[in-house]
Amino acid sequence: MAEFGIAIHGGAGTVSKTKITKWKAQAYEEVLRRAYTVGYLTLQKGGRALDAVTEAILVLEDSSLFNAGRGSVFTHKGANEMDASIMNGANLNAGAVAGIHLVKNPILLAKTIMKKSKHVLLTGVDALEFAKEQGLDIESEEYFYDEFRYQQWQKALAKDTVTLDHDSEAGDKKLGTVGAVALDKKGNLAAGTSTGGMVNKKYGRIGDSALIGSGTYANNETCAISCTGHGEYFIRNVVAHDVAARMQYKGISLEEASDELVHGVLKKAGGRGGLIGIDRQCNIVTPFNTKGMYRGYKKSNGEEFAGIY
Ligand code: ASP
Repeated sequence: MAEFGIAIHGGAGTVSKTKITKWKAQAYEEVLRRAYTVGYLTLQKGGRALDAVTEAILVLEDSSLFNAGRGSVFTHKGANEMDASIMNGANLNAGAVAGIHLVKNPILLAKTIMKKSKHVLLTGVDALEFAKEQGLDIESEEYFYDEFRYQQWQKALAKDTVTLDHDSEAGDKKLGTVGAVALDKKGNLAAGTSTGGMVNKKYGRIGDSALIGSGTYANNETCAISCTGHGEYFIRNVVAHDVAARMQYKGISLEEASDELVHGVLKKAGGRGGLIGIDRQCNIVTPFNTKGMYRGYKKSNGEEFAGIY
C-alpha cells in the first residue's frame, strides 16, 4: 500500500514549560489531534492531500486557541487582518490572501482564489469582495474578538512593540499560526498556512504565511512545507522554497535541508521559528529553533505524535 500522512503545526515560540499548565497543554494537544485526524481520515479514504490540508487547517482556524481565523491577533489599529496560502504540489497551483478581514476561514478563500480566480494572491477589501461573490462565510467583528488577544494587543501598544503571538506573554494561553502538509495515496503533496500575523502589526504589514515560497510551498518533486515564526526572516530567506531547492539541487534529504534552514540560515540571521515538512516517501520533519512548537502528525505506518516540546 502506498504510504500517506499528514503533519500540522499551531505555531512556534517561547512556550515556557513552567508557564503552561498540564491542563492547557492537554487542551492544545486535543485540538491538534482532532485537526490531523480529520485530515488523516480524508487521506485514508483516498482523498487528496490538498483537501486533507484544508480540512485540518479549518479545525485550527475555528478554534480560538490559535492565532488564525477565530482568535486572530490584533493589528496596531485594533483590527484582525489575516493571511493564508495553499499550494498543490501536483501541478504547482497556488492561492493566497493577505490582510483579509471578516472571512471566517481564510484557508478556504486561498483555495477558492486558486480554483476560481486567474490570480494567485489577493489582498484586503477587494479580496473580501471576491469572498462574498464566491459565497464564503463572512463573520462579524465579534466572532473574531478574543479577550486574551485584546489584552495582548494592549500590552504591545503600550510598549510600541510588534511581537510574535507566542512571545507576548502568550506562554500559557494562546498560541500560533497554523499550517498543514500532506502526502496522499497517489503520491501528491500539498501545503497550507493560515495566520492572524504578528501582534500590533502596522501599515498593512503582510507576513510569510501569505507568500508562496516563503511560508508555504509544495512540489511533488521534493516536499511540502509550512512555516511559522518571525515572518520577515522567512520572507527574506524564502524559507519554504529553499528547503525544496536544497533537496533538488544538492540532493540532500528533507531532514538535512530543513535543518540547514531552521538551525543554520534562520538562526544565523536571528530568525526565530520552525516548519513542518513531508516528502514523497512520507518522511515527516518538524524542526524549530524556539523553545517549543505546537505540532502533530499521523502516518499510515501507525506513527502518530502530538506535542509542544
Ligand atoms: N509567520 C507569521 C507572520 O509573520 C507569524 C507566526 O508564525 O506566528 O505573520
